[in-house]
Amino acid sequence: MILPISGAADCVFIPHFHYIRFLFTCGEGLAKSTILEILENAMLYSSTRGNAPARSLRELLNRGTAEDGGLYAPEAWPELTASELSAMGEQAYDQIASDVLALFGGDDWQQSDFSAGIRKALAGFERSDGPPLHHLEDQLWSMELFHGPTFAFKDYALAPLAEAIDRELTISGKRATVLCATSGDTGAATANAFAGRSQANAVILFPEGRVSDVQRRQMTCLGASNVQAISVRGDFDDCQSIVKSLYQSEAAKEYSYTAVNSINLARILLQTSYYIYASVKIHAECGQSVNFAVPSGNFGNIFAGYIAKQMGAPIGKLIVTSNENDVLPRLFETGMMSKAETIPTISPSMDIQVSSNFERMLWILKGRDGTATRDMQKQLAERSFYELSQSEHSKLTKDFGAMKCGKGDALDTMRQIHEQFGKIICPHSATGYFAADQLKATLDGPIVVTETAHPAKFPTAVEEALGMLPDTPARLEDLFACEEEFVTVSPTVEAVQSVIDGKFGTP
Ligand SMILES: *Cc1c(COP(=O)(O)O)cnc(C)c1O
Repeated sequence: MILPISGAADCVFIPHFHYIRFLFTCGEGLAKSTILEILENAMLYSSTRGNAPARSLRELLNRGTAEDGGLYAPEAWPELTASELSAMGEQAYDQIASDVLALFGGDDWQQSDFSAGIRKALAGFERSDGPPLHHLEDQLWSMELFHGPTFAFKDYALAPLAEAIDRELTISGKRATVLCATSGDTGAATANAFAGRSQANAVILFPEGRVSDVQRRQMTCLGASNVQAISVRGDFDDCQSIVKSLYQSEAAKEYSYTAVNSINLARILLQTSYYIYASVKIHAECGQSVNFAVPSGNFGNIFAGYIAKQMGAPIGKLIVTSNENDVLPRLFETGMMSKAETIPTISPSMDIQVSSNFERMLWILKGRDGTATRDMQKQLAERSFYELSQSEHSKLTKDFGAMKCGKGDALDTMRQIHEQFGKIICPHSATGYFAADQLKATLDGPIVVTETAHPAKFPTAVEEALGMLPDTPARLEDLFACEEEFVTVSPTVEAVQSVIDGKFGTP
């Protein structure tokens, strides 16, 4: 919301929580200093494990997990009124993204002026007016989130996040090392967003042989001396757990390790913008709440949709879709989170069995009880499972649905969407279209499939489905002319740290 403050020439954004409603008009109300004081107090984030200092969003830009191993999350969601939401529907997308972050960042954020950088990053996209929304038929819509520099939705968060981190480091005169565990697309987006920056290095860990050629080349062909790609002999969950350990390690201080995985709250909030944008626009056309089918892995993208819903965006159900690695659909069906072996599939960016971001949802289901959340996460780490109570499970399924889509169904769906709409989709997006088709009869209102990647990133799967290759954007073709640079290591914290020491350590 926009609050005009008396005596101030311009307006500031402030959140209004459930328990604090600011109802001032221009020229009235509290003194600016009093309001700023309230703001500073209001804009702190807590750890999901309840045992770390509360921090502002600006502080979280440069942080991975909290000291207690938890993730940062807000105590309450800023709410947008119906008129504020519809105003957002008319705005340029880069403006919405910048405003949403400012809303969560509070005064501290405003004063540091991150907005210009965020707008600059998004304005450089092929489509700066927002991700394209297509009305395919009746209740079926698509939102194409692959028009950024590396052709997956990760760009929508990582390009502006890199600008914000760079600005923060410049203001504070510090350097940082960004650590990134990737199942493919996050690493590509991170490497691109940070390549050539003066204040930050980037270290990308990807599972050996489990990312597509295009994805790997997007991480290894940058020719940027501040980026180190590391191929880890393990799966994504190994990469993720190494990164988590590195944050807690001795070296963390020396290198100022920084997280841009979806455990970084600012990144999730940047993704919230497109759920607000799409739901408001589609709602304006049909007057109904909008459902989303979201190809999921780490539960980051769909959690951003949940935040948009909590802020008041006209959103119905959020449907988690998966490939054979169906840890989330099983959880939604049974209330039991149980880790299995990660199976390599045709949609590698979703080959995950530990959905880190679900910890934020768990914390909310537990009534924001840090101790209870910590106990559950501890059990998951030690015994590979936990179980939600019946009331937690039903609270979860009020907002979410879930659907697994195996290889056969994904390939069939890719063929069907191509035949019906002449549209080539990637194998991740296929799981979303499959779920939309299976569940449409049970949902009220339109369903939007969030297309998470460009089909040209996954040519092998497209060829298997359609017997033809997708058109390759010139930018991807160029990658195949470049020399690759990366090292391969065993899946241990020590092996990765020693690569970092060799590359970026002080001699
Ligand atoms: C990262 C990714 C996903 C999974 O998103 P989460 O935020 O991890 O749930 C799905 N599809 C593609 C193409 C991705 O790159």
